[in-house]
Amino acid sequence: MKSKINIVIVGGGACSLMLGCELNPSIFNVSVYDANVAVGRKFLVAGAGGLNITHSKKPNEFIEMYTPNKFLIDAFNSFNNIDLQHWLKNKLNISTYVGTSGKVFPTKEIKPIEVLNAFINKSKLNNVNFHNKHTWLGFKKNALLFKKENTEVLIEADVVIFCLGGASWPVTGSNGVWLNNFTEHKIETLTFEASNCSVEIKWPTDLINLIEGKHLKNCSFKVNEKTIKGEVVITKFGLEGNGIYGLSTLIREGLKKNNFCDLFIDFKPQQSKEFVIKKLNESKYNNQTKKLSEILKLSTVQIHLIKHFLTKEDFLNNEILAHKIKHFHLSISSFGSIEDAISTVGGISLKEINKYFEFKKLPNHFAIGEMLNYDAPTGGYLLQSCFSMAYFLSSHLNAKHLEK
Ligand SMILES: Cc1cc2nc3c(=O)[nH]c(=O)nc-3n(C[C@H](O)[C@H](O)[C@H](O)COP(=O)(O)OP(=O)(O)OC[C@H]3O[C@@H](n4cnc5c(N)ncnc54)[C@H](O)[C@@H]3O)c2cc1C
Repeated sequence: MKSKINIVIVGGGACSLMLGCELNPSIFNVSVYDANVAVGRKFLVAGAGGLNITHSKKPNEFIEMYTPNKFLIDAFNSFNNIDLQHWLKNKLNISTYVGTSGKVFPTKEIKPIEVLNAFINKSKLNNVNFHNKHTWLGFKKNALLFKKENTEVLIEADVVIFCLGGASWPVTGSNGVWLNNFTEHKIETLTFEASNCSVEIKWPTDLINLIEGKHLKNCSFKVNEKTIKGEVVITKFGLEGNGIYGLSTLIREGLKKNNFCDLFIDFKPQQSKEFVIKKLNESKYNNQTKKLSEILKLSTVQIHLIKHFLTKEDFLNNEILAHKIKHFHLSISSFGSIEDAISTVGGISLKEINKYFEFKKLPNHFAIGEMLNYDAPTGGYLLQSCFSMAYFLSSHLNAKHLEK
């Protein structure tokens, strides 16, 4: 009888949960090593605001959500957002539903911890061994060096799959400290940077006192030529919410180039500027503020913002006022902290891996998930990419080693 191939998975997050379910147990002995006291901590954090597991966007539009996306096309085509929903139902008995804005969640009665446990239980049925409190420190000859409490442990494997995650929410164990572990193999890495996070706006004190904690809803948000619809909450620091998360890549580029980034908000995205001017001109009210609230249905916070950034004279000019409503400008001066970000970019350069996510300089060593340098907005795209990569890699390894 052929002996089994030993696979070590380093990092026990979303990617490794899928690998544990999909790697063929008749070919592989699979062990997962994680630094934290338990696996899937970030998966649970993601579930705290509702576990948005994927999105219902059409597959051909879905792949456009990643920057860059070429490296992901084969993986996504082998296991797309529709496949994931069928897989969850058939393999884990987790039903899903499409919520607002097309986001996909496990059905309401299923808690995130139950989804996590379903993954873990399925992996255990496949004889996957989980080793917690094992921090990977680097390579030592042909082995992986771990620290378990105060002891160093060397682990050898036939195949190693790194699933170390990004560097936001370090309390979950995903802290990006491993970045330098790859330098001895001359593998290019990039410093982690925040994505899908708050942005700083230097609000005037008298204005922020009026608008802190308020939401801007049903607006569209634009950086360069990219516009997205969404919502943000106004904080002392600036803005946060899905209205700006999807613009992270462009904001980051703008900040790097100019130290600031122009953000334009359209308070009336359904209506043209001409229509807004017409409505203002035709209004029976003499009071301009009343026109904004009664005729254009702008919220109090939108009116505060507009008034603050217009002179009295310009506020009374319907052309200028309409322009402000449609092109409200704010200057972003920085990103929020990486610790609070939903995701990060940076990590392993995509140049270092082949189409199966195998390191070109380290055969039989693979890297998948957020530890790779790519960007995606919130909305279920991050978890989908992890599951697609893990499924695709499992299929590749299953097929490759079954042939032998
Ligand atoms: C607040 C928040 C909300 C989110 N909401 C969503 C959402 O609704 N939908 C969505 O799609 N995505 C969401 N995400 C993002 C999503 O959770 C991540 O993109 C995803 O978990 C990444 O999976 P991964 O397997 O690459 O890494 P992770 O899940 O981060 O797992 C990496 C694992 O590696 C371990 N590790 C790290 N370093 C070492 C080391 N040196 N040695 C051993 N182990 C190590 C860590 O302990 C961790 O368990 C959210 C993230 C956050 C922070």
